[in-house]
Amino acid sequence: MDQKTNTQYNPVTADIRRQVGQIVGAAGILEITEAYQQDASKLRYQPEMVVAPQHVHQVQALMRLANQHRFAVTPRGGGSGLAGGCLAVHGGVVLSLRNLEPICRIDSVNLIAEVTPGIITADLKAAACAQGLHYPPDPAGMELSTIGGNAATNAGGPACLKYGTTKDYVLGLESVLPTGELIKTGTRTRKGVVGYDMTQLLVGSEGTLGILTKLFLKLIPLPPAVAGLIAAFENLPQAMRAVTAIMGNGHLPSAIEFMDVKCLDLVQDLLPFPLPQHCACLLIVETDGGPDQVRTEIKSIADVCTRSGAHQLLTADSEPERDKLWKARREVSLRIHDSAAIYVSEDVTVPLGAIADLVSVLPAFEQEYNLRIYAFGHAGDGNIHLNITASDCHQMEQVEQGIAAILRKVLQMQGTISGEHGIGAAKKRYLPMELSPASIRLQKGIKQLFDPNGILNPGKIFP
Ligand SMILES: Cc1cc2nc3c(=O)[nH]c(=O)nc-3n(C[C@H](O)[C@H](O)[C@H](O)COP(=O)(O)OP(=O)(O)OC[C@H]3O[C@@H](n4cnc5c(N)ncnc54)[C@H](O)[C@@H]3O)c2cc1C
Repeated sequence: MDQKTNTQYNPVTADIRRQVGQIVGAAGILEITEAYQQDASKLRYQPEMVVAPQHVHQVQALMRLANQHRFAVTPRGGGSGLAGGCLAVHGGVVLSLRNLEPICRIDSVNLIAEVTPGIITADLKAAACAQGLHYPPDPAGMELSTIGGNAATNAGGPACLKYGTTKDYVLGLESVLPTGELIKTGTRTRKGVVGYDMTQLLVGSEGTLGILTKLFLKLIPLPPAVAGLIAAFENLPQAMRAVTAIMGNGHLPSAIEFMDVKCLDLVQDLLPFPLPQHCACLLIVETDGGPDQVRTEIKSIADVCTRSGAHQLLTADSEPERDKLWKARREVSLRIHDSAAIYVSEDVTVPLGAIADLVSVLPAFEQEYNLRIYAFGHAGDGNIHLNITASDCHQMEQVEQGIAAILRKVLQMQGTISGEHGIGAAKKRYLPMELSPASIRLQKGIKQLFDPNGILNPGKIFP
């Protein structure tokens, strides 16, 4: 029951194009620009058509037409994905959800946001904040990503250490199934256990089981204060050991991020302070809560960092300084992307106790496979972004061997090959390294049940 191969999809003929035009109207048909052929990975696929419906009934009609003519449909949000999930691997229609009935309603009585999928993540966070509420998930690409894309990939971010990932905030959904039916899942309440949890099945399914057309999201009160500190370390494993020491001392910060020196070199011009000498790694730690509590806690965390070997502590307390620092942190992957001929973003996650061991073995992998690995990410939850690069575009085979070796190591450490970016098209060949044949068979069975003709986002997740 493999997903259908390219030859099993029909091309988008002039007649189909005309019918799609009748469904979405002239304004709903977009030019196939470069942007729709790529995302933030280095993969590239050419769609035959790009549409941006304004209404849910148009999405439903498009899916019915796709079943009738068997052409592929690939949902797309902000296109910031790092796994090629929104790319038209089998051609067909790219379905942009950006223009779908834009709604971002904050219900401050019930602490719920009702949003359509094309809302940009940062805009939702700002809308909640304006009403004294907090939507915690903060993927670093939040100025580019949509809330639909975040739910489809179960996006994480720095704050997920304390607050959990996107899935922990999706109470319910409306979704157009591959067949064109519209289903409502979950609840508009903070609890609900009626039937199988369809919401959580759709969240993280990378646009392969349904098109998310509305989301009901949990909000929480906005923490009144945030305090931050930056700790510089002379070696990377030492910094990672400080992460476990911070947590071991009873602290649960709202972020513990790190950047190694290769990343810092790339974004030095954006930092709100000169880079300390002999710095191999910076830890960025933030706590949130009441003003007195965060001041006391950050002081205590500073002491832990010093005891763990930090050779310099810096602060970025003012709002502009913090903004500058986070902007630098968010810019890292884009600068790495632009700096190398080959760039593959892996977002492995290991148990907290294994992060220091993982970063210790990276130089050996760099040497053996002739790679340059930039490491940064969400140290607090063991989610290490390994940005694997090579300067020569003919080196791809060696790069892939290096990646497979690193992933094997991660799995030996009881880790996972992807903590938040998903499998998409980029990592599907590695799926059997982590999942058993029985698990893959079951998951393909679910896909078949939702999408008997295999037309929604084909070529993703399964090898
Ligand atoms: C600078 C940068 C930093 C990043 N940092 C993080 C990070 O900290 N944490 C993190 O998790 N990710 C991060 N990412 C990756 C990316 O931002 C996330 O994966 C994000 O959730 C993708 O959202 P998007 O709207 O851009 O989705 P897209 O890239 O457009 O699509 C991603 C997947 O979602 C599906 N999809 C999109 N919209 C819908 C919909 N409405 N219904 C069904 N399926 C849909 C697509 O088919 C595809 O499979 C980062 C990316 C960049 C460029």
